[in-house]
Amino acid sequence: NVSVVLFTSDLRLHDHPPLRAALDGSRQVVPLFVRDRAVAAAGFAVPNRLAFLADCLRDLDAGLRARGGRLVVRSGDVVDEVCRVAAETDADEVHMAADVSAYAHRREARLRRALEAQGCRLHVHDAVTTAVPPGAVTPASSDHFAVFTPYFRQWSRQWLRDALGAPRTVRVPDAARSGELPVRAEISEVSPGLASGGESEGRKRLAAWLRGGITAYQDRHDDLAADATSRLSPHLHFGTLSPVELVHRARGAGGPGADAFVRQLAWRDFHRQVLAARPDAATADYRTRHDRWRSERAARADVEAWREGRTGYPVVDAAMRQLRHEGWMHNRARLLTASFLAKTLYVDWRVGARHFLALLVDGDLASNQMNWQWVAGTGTDTRPGRVLNPVGQAKRHDPDGAYVRRWVPELAGLDAPVVHEPWKLRGPERAAYDAYPDPIVDLSEGLARFKRARGYG
Ligand code: FAD
Repeated sequence: NVSVVLFTSDLRLHDHPPLRAALDGSRQVVPLFVRDRAVAAAGFAVPNRLAFLADCLRDLDAGLRARGGRLVVRSGDVVDEVCRVAAETDADEVHMAADVSAYAHRREARLRRALEAQGCRLHVHDAVTTAVPPGAVTPASSDHFAVFTPYFRQWSRQWLRDALGAPRTVRVPDAARSGELPVRAEISEVSPGLASGGESEGRKRLAAWLRGGITAYQDRHDDLAADATSRLSPHLHFGTLSPVELVHRARGAGGPGADAFVRQLAWRDFHRQVLAARPDAATADYRTRHDRWRSERAARADVEAWREGRTGYPVVDAAMRQLRHEGWMHNRARLLTASFLAKTLYVDWRVGARHFLALLVDGDLASNQMNWQWVAGTGTDTRPGRVLNPVGQAKRHDPDGAYVRRWVPELAGLDAPVVHEPWKLRGPERAAYDAYPDPIVDLSEGLARFKRARGYG
């Protein structure tokens, strides 16, 4: 008998419960990836993620070949393609990972119906794309947690299955045509500093992280210039690393750095359980605050300046340029640029979320939309009125100014603290930096506008 394993956001061989279940139950397995037309039609297939995905698929194929198998790649409607492959190979089972978005729920329901009609069963596995599945821990009165701290308390006590090793051999039936793997070099408009993808790369990064960076994580994670976070987010997004394995291995490393890191992995699950329960929150406000955001026309020039990194606030501009150059941004930088757009400029969070999703290699519906809502005060932040001051943030998290100098070469000759406030320079000193713009907004005016609009005293 034959099983199909549909890979989606779980492009790995280690700790892969759907693959393990398929191998346990069948003589032959078809490892399948579908380049889903609907993902492209929704605008989600952007160059940075397509390039990273191309690496992931190539590496997955190589890993399967080393075990006697290969990856089967198809393009089109995911349901049609899975059914077709199942029919061609006479498969009686399909295994895949559960996922949280409205689209993933629809895909699962459609697949189940279509496969049943041809006598094939769909098995959907939990704890593949999350450590703790959505709905596994809930408060007494609701289907999901809206506040992180009590969620984290229960999440931490939750039993986790053991991490699985990679299979030794995978036998693929001859009837399954391989299809063509995408080629990274053929994708245009990729950020020049984009990281490489793939499970092998992810495992290397993870090993290096557990040997080194994780110990100082709790002290250094907010230091913009130190770049002392794991940078594992694209690997978690594409599932080249398993969240369950990550939690186990970080706990195994132990210490305050590892504890702080595990807490961040819980944030990822937290946002996923919110989106799973409230799939509309990908676009609609999770909590309505009656915002009347500035109209696109009124804010157009400000939004352009924000996107391009010329707001006149050096730390904001550094971060926005890092995003464009690497397809990735430091978490502290995401927080302060998002707060700047949504609160200081009072522009709809959806405008910012869209720009992030167009560039982020880890761009993820749950993490991106729910973090944007958190920052905008429409989501799960218990202090929705707080506004991050970009100058204060810069002085605190880039005290030496090295992060700004790295990304804003116009200011490379300035030291801290003036590198964070170049408008304070006078006369010829200011003239030497006139390639760098003046601030597009006065911070206290921005703050007053936000408070007025929200009715905060
Ligand atoms: P580390 O600090 O090493 O953390 C380890 C892992 O924990 C991360 O890889 C990530 O998977 C998870 N994590 C950490 N913080 C968060 C968080 N706040 N929410 C969810 N997961 C978290 N993360 C994404 O993966 N995709 C996104 O599209 C995304 N958009 C964001 C948008 C905004 C406005 C903000 C404020 C945050 C966003 N984040 C997003 C969360 C966070 O910024 C990134 O996960 C983190 O910067 C990735 O870097 P790292 O892997 O070095 O993180």
